[in-house]
Amino acid sequence: MNAGERLFGADTPRLVGSAGGPGGPLLIATAAIHGNEPAGVHALRRVFATIAELEPELELRGRFVGLIGNRAALLAGQRYLESDMNRLWSKRKLAELEAGDPALDTAEQKEQRELLLAIERELARAHGEVVHVDLHSTSGDSPPFLVQNGEARSLELARALGVPVLHGLMKNIDGTTLDLGLAKGFTSVVLEGGQNEAESTVENHESALWLTLCATGVVADEPRLELERHRERIARSTSGIPEAVEICLRYAIEPQEHFTMLPGFKSFERVAQGQLLALGGASGERPIRSPIGGLLIMPRYQGQGQDGFFLARAVGRVA
Ligand SMILES: [Zn+2]
Repeated sequence: MNAGERLFGADTPRLVGSAGGPGGPLLIATAAIHGNEPAGVHALRRVFATIAELEPELELRGRFVGLIGNRAALLAGQRYLESDMNRLWSKRKLAELEAGDPALDTAEQKEQRELLLAIERELARAHGEVVHVDLHSTSGDSPPFLVQNGEARSLELARALGVPVLHGLMKNIDGTTLDLGLAKGFTSVVLEGGQNEAESTVENHESALWLTLCATGVVADEPRLELERHRERIARSTSGIPEAVEICLRYAIEPQEHFTMLPGFKSFERVAQGQLLALGGASGERPIRSPIGGLLIMPRYQGQGQDGFFLARAVGRVA
């Protein structure tokens, strides 16, 4: 990834790659639902390139499909163009989309309609288990972690990947892709890989994808896949992080608020009650202090969206 390299253009297709046939499990991976998070797309490209190198000796026992979420925003290098594409997946919003006139779609609804069509096409041919992994990254530094939607299967996947689990996001945010699986009857998880531009984020996503391919049975564990190397990489990236945390607070940014996170915070960093975290208010000068002691999650270091930061507490892993 050289800075000058042309990575995405008008000819970049939504489909990053597909491999394997319709028998067996189906793993659908989406990336760049937020257009400023290209790491997942790079990771998908790497995994499909490796699969192509190893084929035909590598026997896929199911199907693997990689899709770009918000193409237009990815080309623009922005989180979104008109509205956050990761807030559009509740049953109500999906029904609105189905009932709506495509000619009146917002930029993100157009993307959503195309992405849904590609997913539905895969679902129609699938016979086995369906798992959807939505790859994201964060504006601040972060270890990789998995966000779950209450299904036991998503916790099994987190264990197989060796990543911490974030509980309670759905209580705080409506309409993420975690809702899509619940609406359509398959397993959906969100995988956060690290900081948006960091090379380690691409690596974390690449490793997580291989481990998910194995955990879902799309590929069998075999030496050429170097799964141990991927497990070690994830273990290094998550060293010292609790296995499971639960969100207890979301700082919601008001529409007219000028919000600035103080520099240098990382996800899963411990903060003290009363610690100054950000400046906000209409003036952009009101101190925002942590109301509790806890773990800071996803501090916002980019200009779009209403989530300033989250605070979480370590919890025992829910079996
Ligand atoms: Zn995201």
